Amino acid sequence: MAASSNMGMPRIGPARELKRVVEAYWDGRRTAADVLAEARTRRSASWRAQAERGITFIPSNDFSLYDHVLDTCCLLGTLPARFGDLDERVGLDTYTALARGTRHAGRPVAPLEMTKWFDTNYHYLIPELGPDTQPRLGWDKPVAEFREAEALQITTRPVLLGPVSFLLLAKPTVPGFSTLELLPTVTPVYQEVLNQLSAAGADWVQLDEPCLVTDLSATARDAFEAAYATLAGAPDIRLLVATYFGGLGENAALATGLGVDGLHVDLVRDPGQLPGLLEHVRPGTVLSAGVVDGRNVWRSDLRRTLGLLREAHEQLGDRLWIAPSCSLQHVPYDINQETGLDPVLRSRLAFAYQKLDEVAILARALSGGPDAVAETVADALAESDALRTRHQKTRSDAVRRRTASMTKRDSTRRSPYQTRAQAQRRALPLPPLPTTTIGSFPQTTEIRRARRDRASGATTEAGYRDFCRGEIARSIRLQQDVGLDVLVHGEPERNDMVQYFAERLDGFACTRHGWVQSYGTRYVRPPILHADVSRPAPITTEWLGYAQSCTSSPVKGMLTGPVTILQWSFARDDQPREDTCRQIALAVRDEVTDLEAAGIAIIQVDEPALREGLPLRRADRPRYLAWATECFRLATAAVADTTQIHTHMCYAEFADILDAIVALDADVISVEAARSAMDVLGHLTAAGYPAAVGPGVFDVHSPNVPATADLTALIRRAADALGRDRIWVNPDCGLKTRRAEEVVPALANMVAATRAVRTELHRARRARRA
Ligand code: GLN
Ligand code: ZN
Repeated sequence: MAASSNMGMPRIGPARELKRVVEAYWDGRRTAADVLAEARTRRSASWRAQAERGITFIPSNDFSLYDHVLDTCCLLGTLPARFGDLDERVGLDTYTALARGTRHAGRPVAPLEMTKWFDTNYHYLIPELGPDTQPRLGWDKPVAEFREAEALQITTRPVLLGPVSFLLLAKPTVPGFSTLELLPTVTPVYQEVLNQLSAAGADWVQLDEPCLVTDLSATARDAFEAAYATLAGAPDIRLLVATYFGGLGENAALATGLGVDGLHVDLVRDPGQLPGLLEHVRPGTVLSAGVVDGRNVWRSDLRRTLGLLREAHEQLGDRLWIAPSCSLQHVPYDINQETGLDPVLRSRLAFAYQKLDEVAILARALSGGPDAVAETVADALAESDALRTRHQKTRSDAVRRRTASMTKRDSTRRSPYQTRAQAQRRALPLPPLPTTTIGSFPQTTEIRRARRDRASGATTEAGYRDFCRGEIARSIRLQQDVGLDVLVHGEPERNDMVQYFAERLDGFACTRHGWVQSYGTRYVRPPILHADVSRPAPITTEWLGYAQSCTSSPVKGMLTGPVTILQWSFARDDQPREDTCRQIALAVRDEVTDLEAAGIAIIQVDEPALREGLPLRRADRPRYLAWATECFRLATAAVADTTQIHTHMCYAEFADILDAIVALDADVISVEAARSAMDVLGHLTAAGYPAAVGPGVFDVHSPNVPATADLTALIRRAADALGRDRIWVNPDCGLKTRRAEEVVPALANMVAATRAVRTELHRARRARRA
C-alpha cells in the first residue's frame, strides 16, 4: 500500500474570490468578518476537494491571506520593531499593515520588503531579524485551522515553514548579524506549536525546508542538525521534513540523518536522487515521493512514473507516499474551467485538481487492490498513454531548420561596443545624460475599459485601434511637454508584457482562468508554451511607427526578451528549456529586425526575469547564464551598428550575474538603483561593464513625487561614477501602476534635475579648459 499525500493547495480561489474580498476590505467596502468568512470557505473547499479525490494526507495551514512567510513571522512573534505599537494579537489590521505598510503618529511605516520565493515568480515578505528579536508564540493560526478541518471531519497535516529555512530567508536588521543566531530562541517556539498541534490531535506535521536543496554553509548545516535534534524528539507527533525545487545533492545525508519520521523529496526536478535515498532512508521512516510536477501544467506520464517508483514501493510499502513535487500553489485550480482552449491541448494539461487525481491514481496503481480499483487504474493508465501519443502538432520543421542553422555570428553584433557607440553618437544626436522612461505609462481605467469592451465585442477592432492610437499620441505629447529626450509609445495596447506577445506568437496558448499568485492579491496568468515558437506577423511595428510619426524625437521600441517570455510562461517539458528559449529568441529577432526597418533606431528588450531563472545551485549557474545571454544576443544582434539596443532589469541585486550583464552586449541597460543608493554602478564598473547605464533615479512603486534636489544629487553621483557619456536618466521601472498626476511632476523633476547636472558638467568643463 502506498499513500497519497498533498503538499499545499492554491489559496486564491478558482474565481479569484480571495483577491476580491481582500481588496474590497482594503477599500472599506467589506468587513474583516467578510474576509475571514471567505477564507474559511476557501479552506473548506480545498480540504473537501482533496478528500473527494481520495488524498490520504491533506495539508492545513497551507492557506494564507497574503503570504505564508508573513504568517510564519506572526506565528513566531518576530515582527519588526517599527510595528511595535501594533496589536499584540495579530488581527487583520496588523496583518495588513505588515504586508502593505501603515501610518503611525502621522508618519509612514514601511511594510516588509518582498522578494522571489526560490526560483518561482511567487514573492514572499522578508522577515527582519536582529539581536533584539525575541521570538514568542504570537499566533494560533496552525492550531485553529487544524481544528477547523477536524470540525469538517477531515484530519489534516499542518504545514509550517521550518525553522532553518525561515531564518535563512530572513534578512538581518544590523550588518554582520547572522539570522541563524536566533535558532536557540526560535526552536522552543516551534516546540510549543508542535505541542499545541499534538494536543489538538494532529498526528503529522509538515516542516518545509526548501533550503535543503541549496548550497549550504557549514553553519547552516549545523543549524539543521541542532534544530532537528531538538524537534525530532517531540513526543506524540511525527514530523515530515519537506524539500522541493531541486535535488538534495550533497545535503542528502544531512536530510536523511535529521532523525525525523519522514522526508519529502522533489523527484520531478531530480528523479536521479531516488536510488541513493533508498539506500539511506532510515528504517521505519516515510519517503514522500514528489512525482507529480507542482510547477508546471502538463499531465504526468503515469506509466513512466510508476516505473520510477516500483522499486521504492517494494522496499517501503506503505512508507512510500505519493505526492506532487511541491505545493500546488504554483499552478491554477482546474483545467475544466478552460473551455476555450483547443481540446487536444486541454487534454494534455493538468492543473491542481487534475494533479490530485494523478497522485491518487498513482497511489492506487502501486497498491493494487480489488478488481474495481484495478479497472479504474487501468483505464487511467490507458488514457494517459493515449493522450501522450495523441500528438498535438508540437514540431515545426521550419522552426527546427532555422534554429539549427544559427551560428555564433548570428548572436554577435557586427562591431564591438566602442565602435557602435561612436556610430550611434553620430546617428542619434542626443544630449549628455539623455532622459527616457522604461516603457509603460499609467494604465488608466479608460484603457482597461477599452480592453474589456473589445473583449466583449462592445468595441470594434477598428475602434479599439483608434483608441490606442489616441493614447499613444497623448503620451507622446505628454513626454514632449515634460521635455524627455527619448520617448516611448506607452504600451497602452499591452495587457501584460508576456501575455501580449504570447497571444501573437505561434506555439503559445493563453488561459481565461489560469491565475496563480504572484504576491498578495496580485495574480498572473502565465501563457502555456506548448509547441515550436514562431512569429507569424509583425507585432509592434504598427504602434511604434505611429508613435514615431507623432514626433521628431527618437521613439524607443519596446519588446519583452526571450528569457522573460520563457520564465513567465508554463513551458513545454519535452525538450530542454534552452532549446525553447532559442526559438523565442528568433521570434523576437524578427520583431527587432522589423522595428529597425520601420525606422526605429532605439530598441529596448526587457529582461526583468533573467535573474529569477538562475538555478538554485551555484554549480548550475554558468550554464544557464551562457544560454540565457546567448538567447538575448540572438534576439538583438541582427541590427546595424547605428541601432541602439537597450535592456531593462528592475532589480539591483546584480552580484551573481554581473558577467552575464556584460555578456548581453547591449548598448544601454536600465536598472533599479534609487532604493539602493546607486550601489549598482560601482558593481558594474568593477565587473568591467563597458557600455551605458540608466540607473533608476526614482522608485516607481512609491506614489511620492521625488524632489528635484534629491534627483540632482543622484544624477550627479552617477555621472561622477561613470562619466557623462555613459549615464542615462530614467525611473526604476515602467510607470503603468502609477497615476498620471504622480507621473507628470516626477518626470518634470527628473528632467529639471538632469538639466541642472548638465549645466554643472558644462561649467566644470569650461573651467578646466580655461
Ligand atoms: N517595458 C516594461 C514597462 O515599462 C517593463 C516592465 C518590467 O520591467 N517589469 O512596463
Ligand atoms: Zn522593470
